Amino acid sequence: MKNLWNDKEAKGLNRLEQLVYRSRLIGSEPKLCVWGGGNTSTKWEEKDFQGRPRRVLRVKGSGSDLKVSEPKHFTPLDLDLVLPVYDRESMTDEDMVSFIEHCMLSPKAPRASIEALLHAFLDYPDIDHTHADAILAVTNNARGRELAKKLFGNELVWVPYVKPGFTLSKVVADLVRENPKARGAILEHHGLITWGEDSKESYSRTIDYVTRAEKFFAKREKAYSILGGQKVKTLPEEARKEWLRKNYPVIRGVVSKNKLVILRYDDKPEVLEFVNSKLAPKVSQIGPATPDHMLRTKRVPLFVDPKKPLAPQIETYAENHRRYYEKHKQPGMFMLDPYPVVILVPGIGMITTGKDAICADIVAEIYEHAIQVQKDASLWAPYKSLSEKLAFEMEYWSMELYKLSLAPNEKPLARKIALVTGAEGAIGRAIVKKLRDQGAQVIAADLKKGSDPFSITLDVTSEKSVTAAIDKILLTFGGIDILVSNAGIATVASLTDLKLEQWEKNLAVNATGHFLVTREILRIMRPQGIGGSIIFITTKNVLAPGKDFGAYSSSKSAQAQLCRIVAIENGEFGIRANMINPDGIFEGSGLWNEKVRKDRAESYKIPENELEDFYRKRNLLKIRVTGEDVAESVLFLASDKSAKTTGCILTVDGGVKEAFPR
Ligand code: ZN
Repeated sequence: MKNLWNDKEAKGLNRLEQLVYRSRLIGSEPKLCVWGGGNTSTKWEEKDFQGRPRRVLRVKGSGSDLKVSEPKHFTPLDLDLVLPVYDRESMTDEDMVSFIEHCMLSPKAPRASIEALLHAFLDYPDIDHTHADAILAVTNNARGRELAKKLFGNELVWVPYVKPGFTLSKVVADLVRENPKARGAILEHHGLITWGEDSKESYSRTIDYVTRAEKFFAKREKAYSILGGQKVKTLPEEARKEWLRKNYPVIRGVVSKNKLVILRYDDKPEVLEFVNSKLAPKVSQIGPATPDHMLRTKRVPLFVDPKKPLAPQIETYAENHRRYYEKHKQPGMFMLDPYPVVILVPGIGMITTGKDAICADIVAEIYEHAIQVQKDASLWAPYKSLSEKLAFEMEYWSMELYKLSLAPNEKPLARKIALVTGAEGAIGRAIVKKLRDQGAQVIAADLKKGSDPFSITLDVTSEKSVTAAIDKILLTFGGIDILVSNAGIATVASLTDLKLEQWEKNLAVNATGHFLVTREILRIMRPQGIGGSIIFITTKNVLAPGKDFGAYSSSKSAQAQLCRIVAIENGEFGIRANMINPDGIFEGSGLWNEKVRKDRAESYKIPENELEDFYRKRNLLKIRVTGEDVAESVLFLASDKSAKTTGCILTVDGGVKEAFPR
C-alpha cells in the first residue's frame, strides 16, 4: 500500500489540520476503511469557552466519513475530565456516552466515536484506528495470533476480542503499558491501532503494517488455490442478464416484505471468483470480517442455489434471522429487518439491497472487502470470525444502531422506483422534480436524452424501444413501483382536413404508446407482488372534447379507457391505475407548441396572445394551471395516501363544468 504522505502539503498545518489531512488520506483508501469506518485522533492544547487553556483530545465524531472530514467533525474532549474515568472497574455503554458528552469542550460538537476512550487512554499524541482488509485477514483465521507474531513480532500488541466500549479501551491501554516498545495493537476480529509522535508517524506505521500483511497474502495468492478452487463457471453475460430479468421481480418482492428496497448487481471478477469457488458457500456463512461491516451487510449473506426457486430460499434466510434474534435478544430490543442485504449467486455474481441505489452500492463495496478478507485469511488457516453470540451483541448493539438513527426521516416516496415518460415537457419536468424531491428513484424518459442524470431515451410508439428502456430500468434498480405515463402529442385540424398520417400518429403516441409502456411495466409489477401505482396524464378533452381536436381527443379517450382496464385487470395484484385530467397548461409545454397555439386560437376565433387568458377565464376558479399543479396530484396518486383509489379521474383544470367526471 502506497504511503501518500506529502511533506509539502502537510507543511504549516497545525496538529488538528494535520489530523484532518491524514484522516482524508486514510479515508480515501478503501482497503484501509470502508464508508464511515475507522477513527483517528490527536492530542493538543485548545482554549475552552472562558479562554482557559485545556489539554484536548480531538477524536472523530460518530456518523462522519474520514475521506471528506473537516476539523468540525473531530469532537474536542477535555482530557483532564476524561482520564480519571480509567480508574473505574466497569461502565455501561449508556453511562460511557453520557460521561463523554459531559467532557466535550463544545456542546455543539458531534457525539464522539464509540472508540473515543480507546484514543484517550493511550498516552500517545496521534492515533489511527482502521479496519484494513489485510489486517483483518491476519486476525480472522484459526491461527491469527501466530501469523501476527510472524509478521509483526513485538511491534504490535495482540488484543483478544472484546466488544468495543469501556472495557476494550481499558484492556488495550493495560496491554500496551505492559509493552512500552509497541508501536501499535492488533485487535482480534476487529482491526489495527497505530500511534506516533505526530500525524506522519502514526499514518506511516498504519501503511507499513498493512503493507507487510498485503505482501504476505499476495505471495500466497500466487502459490495456493483460492477457497478450494473454482467449482462453478460464470455464465456468459447475456445468460446472467436473462437470469436477473427472470428473478429480479421475485427477489425484490420477497426482500421488500418488511421494507421496500432497491437492488444492485455486482459482477466484478473478484466477486465472481468468490461465488464460484468451492468453499464460498461454507466460508461466507461463518461471520463478518469486522463488526464495522456488519451494520451494513448483516452477519452473513444469503448464498443461493440458482437452480432452485428463490423465494423459499430467501424466506428461510429470514426465518433463520428471526431464530437468531429470538435466541439472543435482550429486553428492550426490536428485531431488525430479517431479509438479506447481500445475496451471492454462483455463476451470476452478487446482488445487494438498500433504501436507494447509493446505499445498495455501499453494501456491495463493503462486501467486496469482506470477500478479500475471507479469501486471504483462508490462505493461511481456515477463516474464523466472531461467534454467533458475539456477532449478535454487535449487530444489535445500541451504540451502533445510534449511527443508523442519525439518518434523516424518510420521505413519502423513499425506496420507490418511478418511471416518467415525456419527461422533457413542462408537465414531465415538474413531475420528475416532485417525485424526486419526495424521495423516489426517478428515471426520466423522453425521445431525446435529457440533461437529467437518470434520463433514458424512449420512443413510446416503438415496441423495441419500450422493451429496451424498461429492461434497462429493471437491470439497474431491480424493479418498478410507479409509472407516470405522460408522453403525448396534439394535432389541430377539423376531421375533414385531418390527414390519415396525423390521425395515426396521434393514436400511436396517445393510445398505443401508453399500452406498450404499461404492458411492460405490468410484466414487472405483477411478479414483484408488492402492488404499484400507474398514473396516466390524460386531458380535460376526454370528458369535454373541443372542435378541431379530433385526433387528440379520440386518442386520449383510448388512453382513458386503457387506464380503466388496467385498474380492472390489476386490482387483485394491488396495482392501482388512475388518471389526471389537466387543462390549458402552456408554460414550457411541448404539447402547446407554436403551431398548436396558433391553430387553437384560430379554432376559438381569438388572437393568439389571448389564448392563455381565454383558458384561464373559462374555468370556474379563473385560475392559471401549471405543471407543478399536475405534479402535486401525481404525488398524491403515487403515494400511499391514495392507497384506496383506483380507476379514478382527478381533474387539475381550475374547474371546467362541462368536464366534470360523471
Ligand atoms: Zn473499530
